[in-house]
Amino acid sequence: MTFNLKDIVRKNIWDLKPYSSARSEFDLYNSGKNKLTLLDANENPQGQLNRYPDPLQLELKKELAYQKKLSIDQIFVGNGSDEAIDLLYRIFCNPGKDKTLILPPTYGMYEVSAGINDIEVLKAPINSAFEIDFDAVNNQITNNENLKIIWICSPNNPTGNAILKADLKHDWQAQNYTKGGMMDLPFNPAFENELQENQVRLDKLFNNFKGIIVVDEAYQDFTENISFINRLQDYPNLVVLQTMSKAQGLAAARVGFAFASKEIIELFNKTKPPYNVNELSQKAALSAIRNVEQAQKSITTLNANRKWLSEQLDTFDFINKVFPSEANFILARVKNANHVYNYLRDQGIIIRNRSSQIENTLRFTVGTMQECEEMVLALNNYQKQVQ
Ligand SMILES: *Cc1c(COP(=O)(O)O)cnc(C)c1O
Repeated sequence: MTFNLKDIVRKNIWDLKPYSSARSEFDLYNSGKNKLTLLDANENPQGQLNRYPDPLQLELKKELAYQKKLSIDQIFVGNGSDEAIDLLYRIFCNPGKDKTLILPPTYGMYEVSAGINDIEVLKAPINSAFEIDFDAVNNQITNNENLKIIWICSPNNPTGNAILKADLKHDWQAQNYTKGGMMDLPFNPAFENELQENQVRLDKLFNNFKGIIVVDEAYQDFTENISFINRLQDYPNLVVLQTMSKAQGLAAARVGFAFASKEIIELFNKTKPPYNVNELSQKAALSAIRNVEQAQKSITTLNANRKWLSEQLDTFDFINKVFPSEANFILARVKNANHVYNYLRDQGIIIRNRSSQIENTLRFTVGTMQECEEMVLALNNYQKQVQ
């Protein structure tokens, strides 16, 4: 089974002649002129936000391309990654006919967006250790001719663990490096088997599927595992999603990214609304990603808070298990999730009850140190009350 883009794109999208906006017909961002008289887009010549934004967000993409070591035409910028999720269905899936595969428990939007687009959702649940059940995934691929998109969220929401690793060798070196080791330390041969097994699994997954595999890396900044962006050249059916909403602290601006081959990004560009990311958000995103130091500081703080909160949660009698996390939240199994949830809510502390997905589990977002302390204090009071 070889991947052929044209075979899996909806025919109407493949044939689509995109809307040509004033700002895409004349590329004023690269015109090379100092002064332009802009009478092409029926804008009001007066005001602050009177001009349409760059439909292709080139300033932002230039910086991203530099930072991620990609070319500009491998990047799509969306109104949140939720826009990219919806566009993927609209580009690849025929409503009422095609199917998608999710690995629950996972992010809810894959299923909601499939429902909106009338796409049947198949499931290959992760196992009780929160690992991918590759046999189940391969069975679904084999048994469903019309399966077009597989969603893999890693680190996964709500479990918090990285369920798919792009390259264990890089991860091992990176972890060694942050622990004070040396980048060029010889690779430990004890890992050689594990490394090869992971590679074989990845090749089998990507090469035996003629549809699209999306790796959603919304929480990538919080893990030491390397990004699947590094595997784009190996797998033409790979789409990587990232977002400004989590580590970058810009949830209100609604900016998310898809990284893929330039052929796939072309399809995104012709299917999206012409001015999908507004001017204020483009500016906010650009200034945030330029400020690498501040983002790094914020990630370091949140990772330290996560470690502290995990250790604290582990000390409570009513918490049975605190799951390891590589994201900015922690999943915990408790004795009575509804009871704890309601107690905290009454104290004005809102967490997420994930019991409908995994029995008796709560998801705690990692906040400021003060918020973490507030949480632990409230849980202390809860413990006293139930005893
Ligand atoms: C939060 C989250 C997103 C973010 O979506 P945006 O629309 O960019 O805010 C995407 N995927 C997962 C798994 C998430 O948890």
